[in-house]
Formats: sequence, structure tokens, C-alpha cells
Amino acid sequence: MKFAQRIQNIQQSMTLAISAKAQALREQGIDVIGFGAGEPDFATPENIKQAAIDAIHNNDTHYTIVSGTHTLKDAIIEKFDRDNGLAYDRKQIVVSCGAKHSFYNLAQVLWDAGDEIIIPAPYWVSYPDMVVLANASPVIVNTEESSGFKITAEQLQQAVTKKTRALVLNSPSNPTGSAYTKKELEALAEVILKNKLLVISDEIYEKIVFDGFEHVSIASLSEEMQRKTIVINGASKCFAMTGWRIGYLAAETDIVSAITKLQGQSTSNPTSISQAACAEALTGEKTPGEIIKMVTEFKKRRDTLMDCYAKIEGISCPKPVGSFYTFPDFSAVLGKQWNGKTIKGSLDVAEFLIEEAKVSLVPGIAFGADNNLRLSFATSMENLNEGMNRIEAALNTLHT
Ligand SMILES: *Cc1c(COP(=O)(O)O)cnc(C)c1O
Repeated sequence: MKFAQRIQNIQQSMTLAISAKAQALREQGIDVIGFGAGEPDFATPENIKQAAIDAIHNNDTHYTIVSGTHTLKDAIIEKFDRDNGLAYDRKQIVVSCGAKHSFYNLAQVLWDAGDEIIIPAPYWVSYPDMVVLANASPVIVNTEESSGFKITAEQLQQAVTKKTRALVLNSPSNPTGSAYTKKELEALAEVILKNKLLVISDEIYEKIVFDGFEHVSIASLSEEMQRKTIVINGASKCFAMTGWRIGYLAAETDIVSAITKLQGQSTSNPTSISQAACAEALTGEKTPGEIIKMVTEFKKRRDTLMDCYAKIEGISCPKPVGSFYTFPDFSAVLGKQWNGKTIKGSLDVAEFLIEEAKVSLVPGIAFGADNNLRLSFATSMENLNEGMNRIEAALNTLHT
């Protein structure tokens, strides 16, 4: 079969080999501890589930407006005003089938061949490929652990060329768990305005933050920045709703109209029932309490994990301020011998850990950082303790 060039231009997920190995071991009855989860391990809160059940009973089961129901858009507008101090109207919101779909649509309507999109690494796996699917060029800027894996204003300015169209920001970050402070965002905003760029601000983890960290949207820094920012958010992570497939973005009306045109000729509206559930998630009285419960549990797990990292020789890990990921550095393990081979990068480390410790982590190369692996704490405390013990024991068997 001859396939379209565009599908040949993107890569298969590099993490598939590790997931397949974990699956194969589990099928042999071996208990593998999964640290790969990219979604909360909590159930969707009851009030949100009930809103979906009510929507079905009310026959809210037909096509809706392509860009989302008025009810949901109004809930999103209320959320932006309440949580981010941002004012939007209905013409500035488009609801899609997940935040990934929001980003995909945006790339399709904004960019062409020759356009450069700056993506700081470590990055969320899907950004570069979605940019490539739009025929544009991802420009990867490597960040340092010492700067909290955050792009600095100087790094951004250095990466800008005449072809640069946008910067992709993800705060709090998947995979690093770091998040930008207001001051850091202000420095970036200056470069963005000076160079007339757009920012795509993916804020899907905004409510999963710890130790009183205050999430700030770069769009809220000034009216001018709001015009230059496309804010992407969704229900998946903060409300434990990954399966419901609701994401949304807020932008200038011309961008929203273009996306609505594309969506009208492709997926049409996201599921009516999920939209009703998401409106409840955003404005329901019970939701804030549910979020506190989840975030409190995530924080306990993060603290337990940090204690474990402190004890293990051969890994170092910055403390995440948000999300449910840690991104430990395994450089000290690289170059060591295992199974007659030298461990060369994150794929080798992941293979070593799954074979010797029976724990699965996501190799950092998938996020553009080959010294690290992503270890998710969207799993039970029991698994965290047992898994970390296993990792420690396995690392102790390694020699140079
Ligand atoms: C999970 C995730 C998304 C996409 O989530 P959807 O389920 O498509 O809404 C987007 N960005 C980041 C950084 C994520 O981790």
C-alpha cells in the first residue's frame, strides 16, 4: 500500500516497546509495577458522573453546536474568569475531543511548511509530531535541570528566526513536573511580544500543584499577551476524566472560527454527554472538594517518592511542583554494564529496569531527554514503595 507522505513523516511512539514488554511479562504471570501511567488513577468524581447520567436521561444525546454547547462554553468562560482572571466570550472558545485534539486542530489551521514552532525539551510527546503533521518544523530547545527544565528568555530569543511563529509552553509540565512562576512568564512574554510570536499555553495540569504553588496563565499578564496566547486546557487530568475526551481552547475569534470550520468538516462536536459532564466538572459545587482530595493524595505520594529518591544512589530527581510525574536523572547509570552490554541511554535503562526490577518507566528519549526517565505517581502508595525498593535493589547489582 502506498501511504500519504504526512503519515510517513511522523514516528511511532518510542515507548511502545517497553509497554509491550511489560504486557508480555504480565501475561506470564509476573507482577510488573507500572510507573508509566499518563492519567490519574482515581475514578471520575460522582457529581460529574451523575451529570452525564442525567444528560442521557434528558435525551441530551444529539449533535450539538460544532464548537461546543452554550452551557459548556459558559462554564469554561466562568472557569477562566474565576481561576485565571481572563475574560472571554463564547466566540473565543472551541471545545474539542481532548486537549490533544485542540492542539492538533490549532496546528492544522495556523501553520504551513516553513513555519518554525519552538518547543522546549523535555516536551510532551505529541507536540513535535503534531507540528510535523501540519508540515511545519519543530525547533527543539533543550532546557537544563538547573533551570528546573524551563526555557529562559535568553534561550527563547536565541531560538527565534524570521520563520518563528510560536512557542509551546506546558506548565505544569508533563514530563518534568516543573511549572513557570509569574516572573519567569513575564520575562518570556517580553520576548514573545518583541518578536510578534504566539504562545500555545497548555495548562492541563493547572490544578495539580503542591506546596501552595500558584499557577499563572501567561495570557493573564496583559491584554496584549491574552491576544497573543492560545490557552489549551481540558477535563482529563484535573478531574480524572481522560476517557471522556473533552479539551478546549481560548483564543482570538478568527482562530476559533478557523478551528470550528475544520472541526465541522472532521469530527464535528465532541460527545454531548461528555460536554454536560465537563460543565458540571467546571462549575459544580462538589468539584473543588474532589480536587482537593486528589491533590492531597498526589502530594503525599510525591513526598514519599522524594524520600525514596534521596536514599537511592545513582538517581537524582528534582522535586516536582505540579502534575503527577517525576523525571529522575539516571546519568550515573549510563556507561555501566548489564547483560553483557553497556547501558547507553534511557531506552536501555528502561529495559534494564523492566527485566531486573520488574518496574516499567517511560524512557526520557520520548520527551527529548535521554538521561532521564519519567516515573508517574498516578499509582498506589504500596506500588510506589515496592517499586522504589525494587529499583534500588536492581541498581545495586550494577557495576562499571
Ligand atoms: C494528557 C495531556 C494532554 C492531552 O489530554 P487530553 O486527554 O487529550 O485532553 C495534553 N497535554 C499534556 C501536557 C498532557 O499531559
